[in-house]
Amino acid sequence: MTGQISPSLVLIVTCSGIGKVHGLVSREAVYHLTDKLLPGQADTVCLALLATGDPETRQKVQQTPCITLDGCPKLCAYKNVELSGGKIAKGIRVYDTMKRHHGANFGTATALSEEGWEVVEEVAAEVVKIFRQEAAT
Ligand code: SF4
Repeated sequence: MTGQISPSLVLIVTCSGIGKVHGLVSREAVYHLTDKLLPGQADTVCLALLATGDPETRQKVQQTPCITLDGCPKLCAYKNVELSGGKIAKGIRVYDTMKRHHGANFGTATALSEEGWEVVEEVAAEVVKIFRQEAAT
């Protein structure tokens, strides 16, 4: 799951994960990245548009390196970017990060707990690390 990242832009593509706290963690991580950690450098696309074959969205994932965030082993984000001919720089399994907080209460599908926000920070930091590593090569 590697590829080359432009120093100027990366797409963070997250699974929707509606109805699951895993999905909320993934989506909040995207907002944290696009709004705070990598403003102007990270962008995102709607997974539903990608899954339904929207030409503009497909073109975006084909032209810009993508980091995918998935909330469960079905890997909807990773698989849809791959199926769309997208450039995947790295696939992050958010549920693996959550597993490292064994026994934690992350909140609900609509509201994260303090531990849920900790995972958001960890996932976002992992994306930044990958972005910087790849941009430096
Ligand atoms: S990867 Fe799992 S949690 Fe995310 S949208 Fe797919 S089925 Fe839902």
